[in-house]
Amino acid sequence: MPACHPAKDSAAFMKTSKNITRAFCVELQQELSIVAARREYFSQEPPRARFNFLCSTQACRAQGVKITGVRYDVKPQEHPTFVCAHFRANANYEHHVDCEWVDEAEPVEDMPERQETETQSAVRKAKRKLDDYIDVFDPALKERVKAQPAAARPDEGEDAKPAEVSAVSDTPKIKQSAETRTTNLERLVDSFRQAQAQLTKEEFALLSLRVPGQGEVSLRSYFRHIKFAQLGNERRVLYGGGLVERYGTGFKFKFFDRLQGKRVTLYVSPAQMQAYRSSRYISELLSHADEIRFFTVFALGTLKASPLGKSFTVEIEDLRHLAIVLGPAKNPDSAEAQ
Ligand SMILES: [Zn+2]
Repeated sequence: MPACHPAKDSAAFMKTSKNITRAFCVELQQELSIVAARREYFSQEPPRARFNFLCSTQACRAQGVKITGVRYDVKPQEHPTFVCAHFRANANYEHHVDCEWVDEAEPVEDMPERQETETQSAVRKAKRKLDDYIDVFDPALKERVKAQPAAARPDEGEDAKPAEVSAVSDTPKIKQSAETRTTNLERLVDSFRQAQAQLTKEEFALLSLRVPGQGEVSLRSYFRHIKFAQLGNERRVLYGGGLVERYGTGFKFKFFDRLQGKRVTLYVSPAQMQAYRSSRYISELLSHADEIRFFTVFALGTLKASPLGKSFTVEIEDLRHLAIVLGPAKNPDSAEAQ
């Protein structure tokens, strides 16, 4: 660390000031979110190899600027001390002045930004407490080629780079507060869970989410507990705790909570599992059934009454619209689900 501040013009390398939400994975040769990295990590056959990450900005990557991936090798699980998987700047590296995670214009804490209202300031501070705040969630399922080779690139397009961040470094660039956009439901779920666990009720209520085709909704209202679900396609993420029964490679999830006194289930057929490129990750999560008290399932689907009207089912079009979180361990002393 230099003892004095370099002159402004020569300040070619800087520390990051924003939460790093994407990084370049050396092994997979692509940029991805920490949630996508976790899925890829657990999709490997054991023994699993950890990944190396470089900064997503080309100029930093060219200098070998490393990024640290934290807790992507731990499965998503309910935990009293909630720590989200996240990226962290590596203290040994400084970033290029044009790096997307460096923001010279970042207002100093407690110095109100010009023209910022009290609410805007509260929203900004709440967002900063989250490792990976999502501005836009696009649930549209883009068609994917079915017979992808085993080494197909993961999550292409799931964690889009904000369009306004230019990679051209020799033109003066206005760094905007680029929005974080994803089609990855599990990433949205992680962000929601962290917001629920770490923000105050008031802060949580301030957060909103833009959903193409639905406009702006509060983050809280985009998630609906299964006991408040309504028939039809509500276009909300339904969630709840429950247990799983395996049917070959497929499974049936039974929610604990009833809806209008009736059982609610979510069924995934073996064929659906076999067609899904991340089915190994789902199987890995479900393999912990005996060690944990329950699973929490998050599904973007349609609630339907069974033909005889005795129960309800949540139907999902695609497994990309399902996220599973492990519940607490039955034996509180047992290790985390690695
Ligand atoms: Zn960088």
